[in-house]
Parts: sequence; C-alpha cells; structure tokens
Amino acid sequence: MNNIKRILISGGTHGNELTGVQLIRKWKAQPELCEAKAKGIELSTLIANPPAVLAVRRYIDQDLNRSFSLNSLNDTNPSMSVEAHRAKQLNALYGPKGENTQTDLILDIHNTESNMGISLILSEANAFTQRASAEIASEFSGVFIYFQPEERSQSPYLGTLARADVCIEVGPQSHGTLQAGLFEKTEQVVYRFLELAQEWNEGVLQNKPKKKLSVYTHYKDIDYPRDKNNNISAMIHPDLQGQDYVLLEQGSPLFRTFYGEDVLYTEAKTLCPIFINEAAYYEKKIAMTLTSKSIEEW
Ligand SMILES: [Zn+2]
Repeated sequence: MNNIKRILISGGTHGNELTGVQLIRKWKAQPELCEAKAKGIELSTLIANPPAVLAVRRYIDQDLNRSFSLNSLNDTNPSMSVEAHRAKQLNALYGPKGENTQTDLILDIHNTESNMGISLILSEANAFTQRASAEIASEFSGVFIYFQPEERSQSPYLGTLARADVCIEVGPQSHGTLQAGLFEKTEQVVYRFLELAQEWNEGVLQNKPKKKLSVYTHYKDIDYPRDKNNNISAMIHPDLQGQDYVLLEQGSPLFRTFYGEDVLYTEAKTLCPIFINEAAYYEKKIAMTLTSKSIEEW
C-alpha cells in the first residue's frame, strides 16, 4: 500500500451504536485530538447515518452497512430507501468505490452486544491494516483480529469505499447505551491507528519485526434452531453466553430449547464462536459466527 493521504473515521453507521457516535461528536468538536496523531494526513470524521442516530435505531429502512456493494451503489431505482440514498451520497463524498477512490483508509466504529472486546475486522489482506492491527493486538489486552475475506467490489460494508479499511467492533455494550471503559479504550485504539498510519508513511512500520498472533477467520454463520413455523425454538445456551473467542469442541452446548433440552455442537472441527447472541443479528438469522483460529505472523 502506498502512502496514506486521506483517512475517514466514521461512527453511527448503525444509529444505536453509541461509542462511535459519541467519539465522532467529540472529534468534530476537537479535531486537533486526532490531527495531532497523524501529521500530514488529511482526516475526516463522519456520522454515517444521522436519521438512524436521531431515532437511536440501527437503521431507518435498511441496514446502511449492507448498502455499499457496487451493485447497490449502481442501482437506479427511483424509490430509494433512506439508506440506499445515503450510501450513494457517501460514495460521492468519500469514494467512488474502486481504484479511483479519494479515501485511503476508513476506520468504522461499531458496537456489539457480544463479548468480543475490541475486534478488528479485516475484510482483505492489506499490508497496512494487517501490520497496524498486529501492532495494536500486541499492545492492548482484549483486542482480537477477525478476518472476514470478501470480494471487495461486492462487499456491502461502508469501509469498502476506501482502498483499505478496519471495522472496529466494540463490546459487550447494549445498543443505545454507553460504557466509559469501552469508549476510552476505543479512543486509544483509534489514536494508535492514526499514529501507525503516520509511521507507515515514514516507512517505519513496514520495517518493524512482524508479530505472532491469533487470527480468527470466518468459517460460517449459524442460525438458531427453528420450528415448523420458522420461529426460533431455542436460545443461546447459558454456558455459551459471553464465551466469544473460546474454542468449541464436539459436544459443547450451543442452545437450550424453551423446554430445557440442550442442543450440542456436533462438528469434528474445533472452531471459535463470535457474535454470540448479538441482538442485531436475530433478524439476519445469525445466532453466532464460527471462526477458525490460526497463529500467524503479521
Ligand atoms: Zn454496527
């Protein structure tokens, strides 16, 4: 990756995820807090979905963070939803998505109700985001790297408007609420990314020794068990609640039915669940995401 000239920091992509909303408000009031960390880099801050923030809802009509595939951005349907319209607007302001984009890096701040600490979500192999994320994971406790490979042009995420992106997923925090400890830790992680971007431009970061670390790579999403009416028929098992990033072995409990029966994990492959019981994913039919853990040098 070449020099990082322009960075966008965004929050409120989901209107009820308040860590990013409040950090962006803080940085809009005091832009020097970020500017001091990344000299020579043009920084922008963005509340991505203001109507959803006002309503303290994830979205108004459709999930904004599923609205940035090239197909969606090129859709000319005149009866556009609030978010489809907003996605096109953001694409014009910070894109256009693709190799001619104006933005080198997007840091998009999210919250999850799952016990995922600070999860740095990378959607493709990128020299800067991998190197910087590895440094941060080694410097901070409770920082995890989740690798979710996506074909970039069809990826629906806001971050893909830029050449490179990191989705900073912070939890556990109930949607519509704030926790000071998570707010302050997220703030420090963003400052560190900015410092590392400056180190990258100076040629320093590339020459630091690589770090050995755990990488959690997307394997598959799993839905709740369902009855014949397609209603969920079980809940996350009490022993699994909060156990994000903990290895699941054959026979581990996954779900508890409303009648007290346990549903067990039956696969031979050892995987780590994340996004366990995320509130926003009930509608997406995701009870948890399974990842495979590997030790890598980044
Ligand atoms: Zn989110």
